[in-house]
Amino acid sequence: MFTIEGVCDWCKKLSLVAKHEYIDGLCHHSCAECNDIAKLDVRQFNAAERQQQERKTQS
Ligand SMILES: [Zn+2]
Repeated sequence: MFTIEGVCDWCKKLSLVAKHEYIDGLCHHSCAECNDIAKLDVRQFNAAERQQQERKTQS
């Protein structure tokens, strides 16, 4: 999972990182240490984005 060498978007340290994709097409990378926070962040963002899209289609 942590196969990409890069900078973690959460702690800004250089290490092996995993990719996290947002539903709007963006993606961020997190190291093993930040993975739990990253997963939560991405899930919350995606949930908010989905809600916004639902509101758009309803009006
Ligand atoms: Zn990190």
